[in-house]
Amino acid sequence: AKVVQSVFYDKFEIGDLAFQVSCSIGICLINNANAISENILKFADTAMYRSKMKGGNSSSFYDPALQTLLENQTELETDIVRAIACDEFCAYFQPQLSIDGSIIGAEALIRWNHPTKGLISPNSFIPIAEQFGLIQKLQNIVLRDICILLETLRADDVLKNQFNVSINISQCQFNSSTLKGELFKAIETYDVLPSQIKLEITESMLAGDLMSTVKQMKELKSQGFVFSIDDFGTGYSCLKHLSVLPIDELKIDKSFIDKVLDNASGQSIVQSIIGLGHSLDINIVAEGVESAEQLHILKSMGVNAVQGFLFAKPLTHSNYLKWHKEHQ
Ligand code: C2E
Ligand code: CA
Ligand code: CA
Ligand code: CA
Repeated sequence: AKVVQSVFYDKFEIGDLAFQVSCSIGICLINNANAISENILKFADTAMYRSKMKGGNSSSFYDPALQTLLENQTELETDIVRAIACDEFCAYFQPQLSIDGSIIGAEALIRWNHPTKGLISPNSFIPIAEQFGLIQKLQNIVLRDICILLETLRADDVLKNQFNVSINISQCQFNSSTLKGELFKAIETYDVLPSQIKLEITESMLAGDLMSTVKQMKELKSQGFVFSIDDFGTGYSCLKHLSVLPIDELKIDKSFIDKVLDNASGQSIVQSIIGLGHSLDINIVAEGVESAEQLHILKSMGVNAVQGFLFAKPLTHSNYLKWHKEHQ
């Protein structure tokens, strides 16, 4: 399979356009001479989907468990399509505070209000939405809800200058040429400023084609959008890239905040991220802060802002408004 992959994997150009081809291979082993050819093809096809799920240019063997997995995924996909039409998705908002306690923003986190399964967490449906090309639709729902929140805060006269709401951007959205257009469509519809929207991307998204990433980020940055690197410290750390990218904020991943009280090594990672960020004039946000002890030590280490259950869980639009007014 390795040989086949390298034979198929190629780059070529037609005029100014660059193309890349690769192949996804599915393999079904036959240990029974009576195997039905129709089934063999079906199984190999199922295995091929596994290769596609791995990102393509790979090979996979058929495994009966795969069939169930794929069936579940297809069912979920159908349900997501239905749920979009039925308006079951919406954004919740989790407050972000500066280290001295003032409200500086909120993070929009998508929720699925399922009629029979209740509130569903994004970890269970975002990967499927990405895989089946539905993520754009979900992103637009979140963008819409962010703009509506910003509008309401302004109408209620509680919107401050530096306040912004962040949106989590998937890898495939970030690479898509439609991102800029969708952002502008939303802010123009609702009369919101680009500086009120923060785009959270992850470290791994910086690991791909650096040239096009820099171009995409600089273009959006020049329009006024704000950039945050989410889950910082967990991915492939291309530290040297940080200085060439227009980044406003690093969010230290919760897994490091969890360990900040444990021992010296737990603290040294956090301290070095803070040092790195500050040397590049980038704000540091600690996410997943759950205790006053954590807050205390993070403050002494120089963190600029915090987010976590200690302050508030992600809240519905109306609960967020209530929280915002009470804590102003
Ligand atoms: P994330 O961007 O790292 O979001 C932080 C997650 O940690 C959220 O989970 C949030 O509810 C949770 N969290 C915040 N503070 C605390 C805390 O103090 N303790 C604990 N235990 N958890 C805390 P959530 O909302 O389930 O989201 C999970 C992931 O799903 C997000 O991780 C993000 O990667 C993805 N996601 C959420 N909304 C969207 C979206 O609109 N678009 C995309 N593309 N991805 C999204
Ligand atoms: Ca995030
Ligand atoms: Ca995060
Ligand atoms: Ca994450």
